[in-house]
Amino acid sequence: MPMEKVPQTRWAWVEIDRGALRRNVRAFRGLLGPRQRLCCVVKADAYGHGAAECARVMQSAGADMFAVATVMEGVRLRESGITLPILLLSEPPIGAIPLLLEHEIMPTVYTMEFALAYGEGAVQAGTVGKYHLAIETGMNRIGVHYTEVLEFRRGIDFHRGLACDGVFTHFATADDVDGWDYRLQCKRFDEAVRAMQDAGFSCGTVHCDNTPATMLDTTTRYDMVRVGIGLYGLQPCEAAAARMPLEPVMSVRARITRTTHPAMGEGVSYGFTYRVPRTAVQICTIPLGYADGLSRTLSNRMDVLYRGERAHQVGNICMDQCMFAIQQTPIHQIPEAEHGDMVTIIGRDGDAEITMDEMARLRGTINYEVACDFGMRLEKVYL
Ligand SMILES: *Cc1c(COP(=O)(O)O)cnc(C)c1O
Repeated sequence: MPMEKVPQTRWAWVEIDRGALRRNVRAFRGLLGPRQRLCCVVKADAYGHGAAECARVMQSAGADMFAVATVMEGVRLRESGITLPILLLSEPPIGAIPLLLEHEIMPTVYTMEFALAYGEGAVQAGTVGKYHLAIETGMNRIGVHYTEVLEFRRGIDFHRGLACDGVFTHFATADDVDGWDYRLQCKRFDEAVRAMQDAGFSCGTVHCDNTPATMLDTTTRYDMVRVGIGLYGLQPCEAAAARMPLEPVMSVRARITRTTHPAMGEGVSYGFTYRVPRTAVQICTIPLGYADGLSRTLSNRMDVLYRGERAHQVGNICMDQCMFAIQQTPIHQIPEAEHGDMVTIIGRDGDAEITMDEMARLRGTINYEVACDFGMRLEKVYL
């Protein structure tokens, strides 16, 4: 990568491949019919990828709506110039209502108290408050129970300040679309939607699919799908990976800030959990630590890529830095690493690659969390 793209103030950064993001968005768009809409989920700063910049790319690549998790995420999207509809995937405190109305952020609604306060706020502001109704079909997280949607709609729909722009549910087990649990959620959602339609309540945009459901089940797309992880080129599960290739969008890189050859037996980093086992071991430091999303639980267990080859990370990962070792052997002579050389923590280097999935397995978590974590502090470079 060209040197001028590297942040000037720190030798560790996240690279975001806008071309890959655009192609992933188009690939999901391509799964949909002409009247089906694509809601791009950009919560948690676009899963760590930077919501403002990613939303711009998504908007030009065919997004119809954006979804966020918090009111402030929605406000920041508006401040960055996004004009498409924004859906808040949760029901916020009543105190957030003025901001929702000011920035045209559609809240999720599932309590009458919030819904009526939102309607009142809208009337006072001389507007109509659009909302999406969350339906509880089995995840047991948020929403109006699927058997109580009519009662709920009757309790709020009289309000002239409210307009139902959509109804949705969320799947707990969309990685197993043949499973009984998933099928039951589908059936309950369909029942609830039909009940509202039969009773004359307009449902607006009906939606339930997340990334795995969108990739694995063509029958539940309704009017819109809500795709998150897949847009960033990360597979939600193995079954999905077999269906559709995606291009990873985020890479994590650093430059070596120091190299040294400690004597055999010397320790490295806090607690000396690694000691130099023999001569001819070069210890290299990179300015990337657990406050950047490189979990400390990976200490002494992960690799980085240097000159297209794997090298073991050694010693405890610190808050802002960590070390790795280059071991010369008589049969494998590597050139000495130098101050300023590039290291890949996530991504490709030549033929070698370290994926979010590899790091997620090592950490005992999912790629979603690994990506979000790298979004915390590292500067982002958009390619
Ligand atoms: C996060 C989220 C999504 C997106 O899920 P992915 O698996 O990343 O596609 C969709 N809907 C809701 C309600 C969510 O919370």
